[in-house]
Amino acid sequence: MSDWSEATALVRGGLSRSPFDETAEALYLTSGYVYSSAEEAEAAFKGERDRYIYSRYGNPTVSMFEERLRILEGAEACMATASGMAAVYASLASIVKAGDRVVASRALFGSCHVILTEILPRMGVETELVDGVSLAAWERALTPNTRAVFLETPSNPGLEIIDLGSVCEMAHAVGATVIIDNIFASPVLQKPLEFGADVVVYSATKHIDGQGRTLGGAVLGTSDYISGTLMPFLRHTGPSLSPFNAWVLLKGMETLSLRVNAMCDSAEHLAGVLEEHPSLSRMRHPGHSSHPQFALAQKQMKRGGTILTFTVRGEGDAAKTNAFAVMNALALCDISNNVGDSKSLVTHPATTTHRRISPEARAAVGITDGMIRLSVGLEDVEDIAQDLVQALDTL
Ligand SMILES: *Cc1c(COP(=O)(O)O)cnc(C)c1O
Repeated sequence: MSDWSEATALVRGGLSRSPFDETAEALYLTSGYVYSSAEEAEAAFKGERDRYIYSRYGNPTVSMFEERLRILEGAEACMATASGMAAVYASLASIVKAGDRVVASRALFGSCHVILTEILPRMGVETELVDGVSLAAWERALTPNTRAVFLETPSNPGLEIIDLGSVCEMAHAVGATVIIDNIFASPVLQKPLEFGADVVVYSATKHIDGQGRTLGGAVLGTSDYISGTLMPFLRHTGPSLSPFNAWVLLKGMETLSLRVNAMCDSAEHLAGVLEEHPSLSRMRHPGHSSHPQFALAQKQMKRGGTILTFTVRGEGDAAKTNAFAVMNALALCDISNNVGDSKSLVTHPATTTHRRISPEARAAVGITDGMIRLSVGLEDVEDIAQDLVQALDTL
């Protein structure tokens, strides 16, 4: 099993058949489990017998999902969560205490920004956000009391690329644990553990489901971290993944690599189309040579990813008006804040996902009023291109 290729592991990894020998992964919709004797229950609670006790602690369908993702990531251990934000929060909250310091990149998903700038500080954790692309900024911020480093690369929605190897090295020099939000890249395109990261978090809601059906999340890392630090936190705070959602995510993983690669093909083609459109002042995709960190993206990622951004021309209020006009003129691409879906989705980050962040903080990470984020779906790429061009031509 360990020498299976990634494609095989995505279809068969973690499969654990019941005595009925079903082909597809079994869906164990059960909250609890029964014991053959009172002694067995006692032994299970003492930890002397390794078995399922309660689905907040573990469930066979959830375990299959965790194992499949663990194999794909190449991690020692994995725990699933109810959503990506539960994964992000637990990965941090399980290791910090009052007085600790966390350093994070400034270009963060909106809710991650709230955790770092509002929730953790309220608990006495000192946090500092830095310009993630500047290694000098990391160097300055990484003081010896830094307990954890948190970053996403590529970032949502600015698609900044952060040097994983260098930041991990600097963070480890001060004894900090490095947590990477790998949601935009997906485990198919980037493996942060290979660059020295300690912990990887996912929103399985995005590419792993990839078909707009369920929320889900996961945290991966060493057995020590997962069983020693994270597991007690998750078991007792309770953001467990529903077995039904785990089953949906297992089926999503079977086609994950096929979908992500097909979406990358289309994103690369669309980057070329958008780059030349006169209504746009900027197009950004990590797989396009115009990206400011193109070389770094090539080093860290197998491909540039499924998401790109483009910025319509216009000053002041006109930028937002023009961006809205383009979005409203789209006939195929839907307006929705999800990403990694089989349907092409556009969003206006400044007024939706990143609305809670101050205009100054938005400007610092390149989220302008003219910027539109496109998550490229699985439709025919010529249909997507035609839709985008006709909408942009209305300006
Ligand atoms: C969507 C997303 C999350 C949160 O995941 P949910 O499943 O919605 O809770 C966190 N980080 C990034 C970068 C995301 O895109």
